[in-house]
Amino acid sequence: MSHRTRFAPSPTGYLHIGGARTALFNWLLARKSGGQFILRIEDTDEDRNREEAVDAILDGLGWLGIGWDEGPRVGGPHAPYRQTERLDTYQAIAQRLLDEGKAYRCTCSTERLQALREAAKESGGRRGYDGHCRTLGLGPEAGPAAIRLHVPDGTSVEVDDLIKGPVTWDSTEFDDFILVRPDGMPMYNFVVVCDDVAMQVTDVLRGDEHLNNTPKQLLIYAAIGAPRPRFGHMPLILDEQGRKMSKRFGDVAVGQYRDRGFLPEALVNYLARLGWAHGDAELFDVPALVQMFSVEGIGASAGKWDIAKLKWVNAHWMKSLPVERIAADGRPFLAARGFEAGANWVEVVRVLRDRCQTLVELAESAAVFYQPDVDVVVDREAVAGVLAPAAALVEAAAIAFAALPEWTEASLEVAGNAVCAEAGVKLGKLAQPLRVALIGQKVGPGLWQSLALLGRETSLRRMRTRWS
Ligand code: GLU
Repeated sequence: MSHRTRFAPSPTGYLHIGGARTALFNWLLARKSGGQFILRIEDTDEDRNREEAVDAILDGLGWLGIGWDEGPRVGGPHAPYRQTERLDTYQAIAQRLLDEGKAYRCTCSTERLQALREAAKESGGRRGYDGHCRTLGLGPEAGPAAIRLHVPDGTSVEVDDLIKGPVTWDSTEFDDFILVRPDGMPMYNFVVVCDDVAMQVTDVLRGDEHLNNTPKQLLIYAAIGAPRPRFGHMPLILDEQGRKMSKRFGDVAVGQYRDRGFLPEALVNYLARLGWAHGDAELFDVPALVQMFSVEGIGASAGKWDIAKLKWVNAHWMKSLPVERIAADGRPFLAARGFEAGANWVEVVRVLRDRCQTLVELAESAAVFYQPDVDVVVDREAVAGVLAPAAALVEAAAIAFAALPEWTEASLEVAGNAVCAEAGVKLGKLAQPLRVALIGQKVGPGLWQSLALLGRETSLRRMRTRWS
C-alpha cells in the first residue's frame, strides 16, 4: 500500500527542528511504501507569513536531503501548492457545502457573538455559537457573511490515532464553527482539509499541537464526504531542562545546527531517533531508515533534545562519510576562521576528522596547519615543562629532518627513530616535545602526519622557534 504524505509548514520563520522531524517521518513513510511526499505551504495567515521564510524552509529541507515529489519548485498534479494560490478551490468547496445545506451563511454581528461568548463564560456552559442563522437560509444577498459548518446536534468525534490510540471528543465541544470569514478568507482547519482531500493525502503525521484541530477537521471531512486520512500526532520535543524547545532557550532552527558544524546525515539520524526507535540501534543512514522506519516505532512520550548525543552521532558521521565530503562541508568553516584551505586540505581533514565532533571543531584544530606562528595557541606550561628540557633532542631531529631529500611521513618516521636510537632514548622522549614544538600543545594528531602536513619549512622553523 503506497502512502501519500505531506509536510505543510506555515512560513512564519525558519525550519524548526520539530518541523524537520515531522517532515522526515512523513518523508520516510512515503519513501518506504513507494508513495509520494508532498510539500504544501500554508500561508493563509498573511500577517505572520514572510516570503524569506518559504525559502528558508525549502533550503533547510534540501540541506537535510528531504526532497519532495510534489510542491513548490517542482510542481505536480495538484498544483499550486501554496494555499494563497488555491483560494478558488476553497471557495468552490464552501459553495458546494452551502448548496448541500451542510454549511450556512451567518450575519451575526461581532457584538452579538461577543455577548454569546460572555454569557457562555458566565454560565460555564458550551462556549461559542448558538446556531442563530442555521435555519434562516441566508443567500448572497444578505451581504458579507461568515460561512459556518452545520454540525449536526449530538455529534461526537472519534479518531484512532496511529500514535496516541483512540481519542474521542464529546458533542458538547462543538459549535457551528466558521469555515470562511465574512471577508472571504477561509479558516485554517477548512483549508487544511480541502487540500488534504484534493491532494489525496493518506497519512498525516504531525505535531501534538494539532490534535485539537483534528475533531474540527474530521467534521469537515464528513461534510465534504471525503474519506479521512490516518492521523498520527507526535509528541513534543523537550529541551534538556524538560521545557518545550523554544528559541528563547537555545537553538531550534535547522540552520543553527548547520552553522554549528553538524552534518545533515547526523541531524537526520538524530532526529529520526528522537521519538522513533528500532531496537537499540542508534546509527542509521538514510537507506537503513527507509527500510526500518515504521509508524509503530514512534513513541508516545516526548523526545528530549540531547546535544551530547547529537555530537556523538555527528562524530560518527564525521568519521564515516567520504573524506572528500567532510572536506567540502568543512571548507567554509575554515574560511570563517580566516584561512583558505590549501592543496593539502583533504589530507588535513583525513588526519583530524576522527578527533573532531563537528566541522567547527575540525576547522579549529586545522587552524594550526594554516595560521602564522604568532597565532598558534601555545600551552606555555608544556613549553617550559616538556619542550625546553628536550631542546637538544628536538634540535638533533631538526638537523636529521633538514637533511632528508624527501619530506614524507615514512622518511620522517625513519629519521625520527634514528635520532632516538642515536640518543639512546625511546621515541616517546622525542614525540611529546616535538609535538609541542610543532603545534604548541601536548595532544594532537599523529606526529609524522603533522610534520608531513606542515611541510618542511614550517616544521623546521617551529622546531627551532621553541615558542620562547
Ligand atoms: N501548517 C501547520 C504548521 O505549520 C501544519 C498543519 C498540519 O500539519 O496539519 O504547524
